[in-house]
Amino acid sequence: MMLYLSRIHFPVTTLGPDHRVGIWFQGCSIRCKGCVSADTWGTGKGGVSVDEMMNTISPWLQEAEGITISGGEPFDQPEALIDLLKQIRSKTSIDILVYSGHPFEKIAPIVQNCQGTIDALISDPYEENTSQTVALRGSDNQRLHCLTPLGETRFRPFDRVLKSSDKTFDMMFDEAGVIWLAGIPRRDDMRRLKTILAKEGHLAVTTQDERSVRGKIDDTSCP
Ligand code: SF4
Repeated sequence: MMLYLSRIHFPVTTLGPDHRVGIWFQGCSIRCKGCVSADTWGTGKGGVSVDEMMNTISPWLQEAEGITISGGEPFDQPEALIDLLKQIRSKTSIDILVYSGHPFEKIAPIVQNCQGTIDALISDPYEENTSQTVALRGSDNQRLHCLTPLGETRFRPFDRVLKSSDKTFDMMFDEAGVIWLAGIPRRDDMRRLKTILAKEGHLAVTTQDERSVRGKIDDTSCP
């Protein structure tokens, strides 16, 4: 089974408890305004077989304490997602958290086909004008669903407001020297980062969707 993949990484510490394998799908049909991962929207890139992916992540599974699957939109590739989940579950009993920008009601039949392999799911699109006060979520409309007893144990404690001690980012460098961040930035973090770096003479290009910012610039230039 072919899966379109943006990236994988271990360890990730900001998208669920403990040290996690992070898997980001490539391709998202939802396209929330202000999404910080607009680079994951395009489809047809990063094709890899699920078997190949399993070979890559298998050594990490010995040390990992959880797995987070995000994107992009994992449920835009339902067959690949189900295949991946089944293969992961055949190798480990650690928790699996999946993010989706779709409403839970829309993806419920696919979740059912996952046959208990997803321990917790965070559903619903990112809303840039909705408050951002809840742990593990980019906007407060997003819902946490604990789908198994393990999910209940591991993720119900995250059904709470953000604490100042909650980590925001994991920072990584890829093979090309590009810095990338995993986690859930606070509102405007990426724009603030660009501004700070610009003051120091650095050009920072982020992957945040800027439609709203452009709209504001256009608005202010109108009479
Ligand atoms: S926030 Fe998630 S669901 Fe929304 S556009 Fe970005 S990747 Fe897609």
